[in-house]
Amino acid sequence: MSSAALATAGGSDTTVIPIIRERGQREVFCGLTGIIWLHRKIQDAFFLVVGSRTCAHLIQSAAGVMIFAEPRFATAIIDERDLAGLADCNEELDRIVNQLLTRRPDIRLLFLVGSCPSEVIKLDLSRASSRLSKKFSPNVRVLNYSGSGIETTFTQGEDACLASMVPDLPAAPADAETSLMVVGSLADVVEDQFIRLFAALNIGPVRFFPPRHAADLAPVGKNTRYILAQPFLADTARALEERGATRIDAPFPLGVEGTTLWLKAVADVWGVSSGTFDAATATARERATRAVARYREELSGKRVFFFPDSQLEIPLARFLARELDVELVEVGTPFLHKQHLARELELMPKGVQLSEGQHVENQLDRCRAAKPDLVVCGLGLANPLEAEGMTTKWSIELVFTPIQGYDQAADLAELFARPLVRRMRLVA
Ligand code: SF4
Repeated sequence: MSSAALATAGGSDTTVIPIIRERGQREVFCGLTGIIWLHRKIQDAFFLVVGSRTCAHLIQSAAGVMIFAEPRFATAIIDERDLAGLADCNEELDRIVNQLLTRRPDIRLLFLVGSCPSEVIKLDLSRASSRLSKKFSPNVRVLNYSGSGIETTFTQGEDACLASMVPDLPAAPADAETSLMVVGSLADVVEDQFIRLFAALNIGPVRFFPPRHAADLAPVGKNTRYILAQPFLADTARALEERGATRIDAPFPLGVEGTTLWLKAVADVWGVSSGTFDAATATARERATRAVARYREELSGKRVFFFPDSQLEIPLARFLARELDVELVEVGTPFLHKQHLARELELMPKGVQLSEGQHVENQLDRCRAAKPDLVVCGLGLANPLEAEGMTTKWSIELVFTPIQGYDQAADLAELFARPLVRRMRLVA
């Protein structure tokens, strides 16, 4: 069963963009994938997937084996007996958690991560997490979220994880000073750069969510202004707003322009003058502009096709089009949050073809007909398309790699230039 429909997106008449809406077969990883970067970010958290051998295999092969450190993710396997309702899964889960927390006193936050099999047998992980939280508090908090692959895409795992943490954030006092919360996992190196820039702009206090340590929870309340660092956090944003926080509307900090507009949106809330803003950002901005320009020769005029995968597609496409003169053939995204992406859509080239949702066969047909120079897609499509002679970029790599901020703008350009250069060398 499938369908495709045409609609439009954009905040004003000048930015109305055609969208193909697709519903059909999907080719994406599930939300468990988020564990790969989240376990590196929250350094004292543990992710216990309650799932099948398939789930265990996915996590293990995607994240690799941690040789020198104790692992911070694992899978409690649901087997045939559990699926047939012959075993008490709750008892078994309690036993595994007991064993884990006894052996690993360094764990401060334990996530029980639901999967397709745990949802099939209707194992109530929210009850399990509150039962276990009572037992192990105050040393360990136990939360739960779903990483199941049904009707989701892989970055929603982070959204579900962060949304599950919001109720635990302490309430900020009503008379608290205005504070900034940066929401979405960023590499530590990127966070440190933003901390220095916010300090130079006299913006603060600044907190990052998720934190590096489980106990470092930012207070939230009506004086909290938050800005999204990632475009796939709809549920987290909603949960923060229910706690009184207000979103700062901005494009995402990808590329020189995106980073400048993102910082400027915050600076405007704090009443930072243009002079101070320019003085604080000029050096990094100019250095980044020069560094990005080195890739324009390789990317200018190249035709790029985005399959829907990470939800980063629209900000990435905006960066490629505006800073590297790339021609966008089609920009697919699994979900289009019109509010969170409003500033991005305004910056998109007029008339660019967007698609929302997935019907992989239709998109493959359009992609083959367009013969783009570069296809940005999931791992499952990359190899077959390479075999057909196309040049591809794995979209998941763009989620794992530090790409936000001024100092990473050229690295981001290089991620797109590299496969084209490799292809040219193969052909030469
Ligand atoms: S959660 Fe579902 S989609 Fe993801 S690995 Fe497990 S069974 Fe597969």
